[in-house]
Amino acid sequence: MNELNDLPIRYLKGIGPKRAKIFIKLGINTVEDLLYYFPRRYEDRGKFSRICELKEGLTQTIKAQILSKGERQSFYKRAFRIAEAVVGDNSGKLNCVWFNQPYLKQYLKPGLTLILYGKIDFYAGSLQMSNPEFEIISEEKQSQEESLNIGRIVPVYTVSEGLTQRYMRRLTKSALDEYLPKINDCLPYDIRTRNNLLNLARSLINIHFPENLDLQKQAYERLSFEEFFLFQLPLILRKLKKKEKIGISHQVDSELLNNFIVLLPFKLTAAQEKVLGEIKTDMAKPKAMQRLLQGDVGSGKTVISVAASIIAIQGGYQAVIMAPTELLAKQHYEKISRQSSVVSCQNKKINLGLLTGSLNAIEKEKVCQDIKEGKIDLVIGTHALLEENVKFKNLGLVVIDEQHKFGVGQRALLPKKGANPDVLIMTATPIPRTLAITLYGDLDISIINELPPGRQPIKTLHFKQEFVSGAYKIAKDELRRGNQAYIIYPVIEESYALDIAGAKKMLKELKSGEFKEFKLGLIHGAMKQQEQDDVMLKFKNKKLDALVSTTVLEVGIDVPSVTCMIVEYAERFGLSQLHQLRGRIGRGIEQASCVLVSDTQSLEATARIEAMLKYNDGFHIAEEDLKIRGPGEFFGSRQHGLTELKIGNPLSQMHLLKRARDEAIKLLTLDPRLEARQNIPLKQKLLNKFPEYEKLILVA
Ligand code: ADP
Ligand code: MG
Repeated sequence: MNELNDLPIRYLKGIGPKRAKIFIKLGINTVEDLLYYFPRRYEDRGKFSRICELKEGLTQTIKAQILSKGERQSFYKRAFRIAEAVVGDNSGKLNCVWFNQPYLKQYLKPGLTLILYGKIDFYAGSLQMSNPEFEIISEEKQSQEESLNIGRIVPVYTVSEGLTQRYMRRLTKSALDEYLPKINDCLPYDIRTRNNLLNLARSLINIHFPENLDLQKQAYERLSFEEFFLFQLPLILRKLKKKEKIGISHQVDSELLNNFIVLLPFKLTAAQEKVLGEIKTDMAKPKAMQRLLQGDVGSGKTVISVAASIIAIQGGYQAVIMAPTELLAKQHYEKISRQSSVVSCQNKKINLGLLTGSLNAIEKEKVCQDIKEGKIDLVIGTHALLEENVKFKNLGLVVIDEQHKFGVGQRALLPKKGANPDVLIMTATPIPRTLAITLYGDLDISIINELPPGRQPIKTLHFKQEFVSGAYKIAKDELRRGNQAYIIYPVIEESYALDIAGAKKMLKELKSGEFKEFKLGLIHGAMKQQEQDDVMLKFKNKKLDALVSTTVLEVGIDVPSVTCMIVEYAERFGLSQLHQLRGRIGRGIEQASCVLVSDTQSLEATARIEAMLKYNDGFHIAEEDLKIRGPGEFFGSRQHGLTELKIGNPLSQMHLLKRARDEAIKLLTLDPRLEARQNIPLKQKLLNKFPEYEKLILVA
């Protein structure tokens, strides 16, 4: 199908430059793109309901004639206009209303026949259809277009201005008619047969113009499978290649490591032990480790990354830990300095270095020089580590903390600064294991599924805004007992547009009001790094009782004496974000509470708050978040191709994703360069989709 991929959309009949532009905005550049522009939903117009059979609460389709039309003002809101029409078929009459769309008036001419699709309500004693989508069946065109628009299951596309549903249907149909015969199926025949999948031509017809719902379902399966399969291939090829890649075979059972673990102020949990075991096994092997470590906030990932670093260091290699914020990098640096300063053996001491964006030029140069000469064993830093002038003498291990905060490209940069170093990626936004295996196809996965002992689950509460002083009281009680608190706002400055108060203004208000007797500090991302550090230091040293803050505190910050968090306007935060924020408290032995303050009416925000009240662990939270947001939003644009999935849903089609993955492994093991004749269409499709795949294949 490579020709179709090269064929610009304007080659289709009836598409001039103006229309072509509209299509390009929708991401449709080629004929192939059009064929892969799938309907948003369908309407079953094969079966029209008769008006006398309509039922309140259902969304139904009718075919009826306009008997009369009108317009009125809303009873509640005078500026609000309501367009009305009474329509009828041979079984009865129905009132239809459209809110605030006065321009509809001109289309609603008595005598016209319409297809209407909408929800049936009960209003003022009778049934009505509210805001139905409708299409006018014009007499002259009826015969020609009837087959696409009525009497069948009809596709409904996401269209923008300048395109109509009818036009999209006609265009798609003619593109299908003309080009389907020329399509090569990119899925090899035996894979299709083994997995009971429709061929491509049949799938494309039935995804746009389903002959029946069963075939639509089969088309959906086949096209989802194809998408998963194409998305897995590069990941798997990379993984297979890495397996062969010679890495460093570290000496794992060292005195240095044992000293470190023995001297820790706590005993590792069973889960930490297990994960460290997996890492040791990997690091001992001569191939480069590629491991994803998933563990909820507070599960103790940092200490594992330090242990892994020590393994690298004792053999004379350097290790690097990259964190997403300066605050976090500094906190790691301080903590690790304390933990590792006591560790030494046979005169080997561990030298630490900190490299962040806020160092001045001279300091930076000094650190870079020391890294280059190998004087620093363990470097902790931020994005600043990615700069070109940062060169290592002998990099043996790369750790990336809170990986969801980095882009894929950024993640790949750091390991390139060494010769196949081991890589450990850590995340506190865990996802179900089956999903993780397939999505991070090129990584092995470790999970810490247990919190250190003695942690009490955080008590989470929801307060309406009018009871916010109740929330403040909880915080004040904690402060009086010598504990500390965070009060979080979604924005720094108040926003009139959103009608919410910001952290700055609230600091003033709280200082002179509710929290008069306490010392409050302010921290947010727009402050200079030095100022942020100063505030954080004061807070840690208990010179401040409570911090008013924005989401700068979201990742990693660890102050054990904070036992209360108030999140105002909680509806403005994502679920995973709320969970991360909550993870900042309850780090000591005392019971901690998190109060979410929100007046939200939105269903989604309510679902997020309810999930927070119900679940304390990150795996459940992630699952809920996936359900609420859907995979595209959840994984966000920072993650690989996932948001590009147009049809497949990794959550609801996990079984299909797994099958696609298994098939991809089988295929690439047999034919890593995709040279077999039956695999040529697949190879072309892949190269079209991921041009960078060429390099991968060529060296496979
Ligand atoms: P995260 O997984 O969120 O990065 P951290 O590594 O910051 O968690 O650990 C959270 C806190 O728990 C730290 O103060 C750390 O020192 C402590 N900790 C880690 N492991 C243990 C353990 N096995 N027992 C007790 N405390 C631990
Ligand atoms: Mg951490």
